[in-house]
Amino acid sequence: MSDTRWEAVIGIEIHAQLLTATKMFCGCRLSFGDDPNTHTCPICLAHPGALPVTNAEAVRLAIIAGHALGCEIPERSVFHRKNYFYPDLPKAYQISQFDEPICGPGRFRYLSDDGEHWVGITRAHLEEDAAKLTHTGGDGRRAGAERSSVDFNRGGTPLLEIVTEPDLRSGAEASAFLKQLRQTLVQLGITDGNMEQGSMRADANISVRPVGQAEFGTKTELKNMNSFTFLERGIGAEIARQIEILEDGGSVVQETLHFDPVTGDIHSLRSKEEAHDYRYFPEPDLVPVVPDRAWVDEIKAGLPELPVDRRDRWRSDLGLTFEDAEVLSESPELAAYFEAVASEASPKSAANWVRGELRAQLREVDQEPWESNVTPSALAAIIGMVEGREVSMPNAKAVLAEVVEHGGDPAEIVETKGLGAISDDSELVALVDRLLAEHADQAQQLRDGKDKLIGFFVGQAMKATQGRADPGRVGELVRERVHSA
Ligand code: ADP
Ligand code: ZN
Ligand code: MG
Repeated sequence: MSDTRWEAVIGIEIHAQLLTATKMFCGCRLSFGDDPNTHTCPICLAHPGALPVTNAEAVRLAIIAGHALGCEIPERSVFHRKNYFYPDLPKAYQISQFDEPICGPGRFRYLSDDGEHWVGITRAHLEEDAAKLTHTGGDGRRAGAERSSVDFNRGGTPLLEIVTEPDLRSGAEASAFLKQLRQTLVQLGITDGNMEQGSMRADANISVRPVGQAEFGTKTELKNMNSFTFLERGIGAEIARQIEILEDGGSVVQETLHFDPVTGDIHSLRSKEEAHDYRYFPEPDLVPVVPDRAWVDEIKAGLPELPVDRRDRWRSDLGLTFEDAEVLSESPELAAYFEAVASEASPKSAANWVRGELRAQLREVDQEPWESNVTPSALAAIIGMVEGREVSMPNAKAVLAEVVEHGGDPAEIVETKGLGAISDDSELVALVDRLLAEHADQAQQLRDGKDKLIGFFVGQAMKATQGRADPGRVGELVRERVHSA
């Protein structure tokens, strides 16, 4: 297998559950974990004569998503019936969209550690989810089950399906793209993005072709990857499988596959011969969606800064690394907190403290920075004192711990607890000389080249000063004085 001869081509289809209060075409409440079949009505149970009505909030969320994905919002979109027969679908068709989706073509920008990338978005459309099937007995799958039950609570949940162009070239790219897409949708309040619970799921379409060949190879589809790691690993395994087939002179069969993250195994779910003919036709019970253009523009103008733009700005204006920017833009709350700290302290130190010591201390008390006693100004003050060498690092951490517990002004805490750094160098010189004399054995070993003992003397100095000495300066002084003592 050689990946210098083969190039992978990947397109992703994402289903995201929309955060609406009610279902896509009826007034039933969306709620997860309630008793089965407690949120149903004649519409979502497909009683004859019941008429669907489009959920306006779902349309609004889809338009927000469309703008964030860089998509056109066409003048009108149309619902279609996608026909298939299965027990999770009481109407025997799903209301979906076909050739006139709510969001047209676009381009989505994402950043990864090797820079900026663009992924073409083919379309994004609205549809309803199917009901939930549970198979009991056997191994939990349909085949061999003793009994299957249907919970119609999920049936009719609004979904946004996003389809990308085949622009991705590796599992890592696909995962970086999906991470940023998820973050964007979550921050805009479009979906909760919970992949484990299935409120966001991704299918990966994969093919390989010889490097330099323009036409695409035959693709397979890996279904329902429910974590970024599985997505990346699954794609990697499928690329390797296809390359092996092609190098053995075989050809890839177009089929739908399942990747088992535990065994790393890939097996077929259905092949093309069994592929459905959905007999799409326009849904006669629903009017086309023709959103008011002023409203569409207003939604666009009202979009907050997207995570990708924020990261970009932090990298160029604040000099953060990709990784810092990624971690700190995890949620809008964290991003706002970090920005407030960075406006009063050096951005790089702000990033280190927010990601490092602050998070570590707050984890102990199970709090997020923005809901803790540590205001951005307080943290900035601590950072300022460390950088001005007014407190040593260990004491700065102690001050932070105090603020975490009781709040308060860091400068005052330093003052009342006597934690200020020893600013008088001669005081430190005297201390170091005293310690070298008191620990003559260790001083001799240090002179003989046992450099590790610097740490011993720094430790003694910190102890003697209750952390008020600057450990870096003490280390320097020990090196200097040990030879003159
Ligand atoms: P289908 O008709 O099988 O649904 P589509 O053309 O609608 O195929 O594409 C579905 C997804 O597969 C899209 O994300 C698209 O980018 C991707 N795709 C299409 N052709 C290929 C290919 N040869 N290799 C990899 N991905 C592909
Ligand atoms: Zn209903
Ligand atoms: Mg398709």
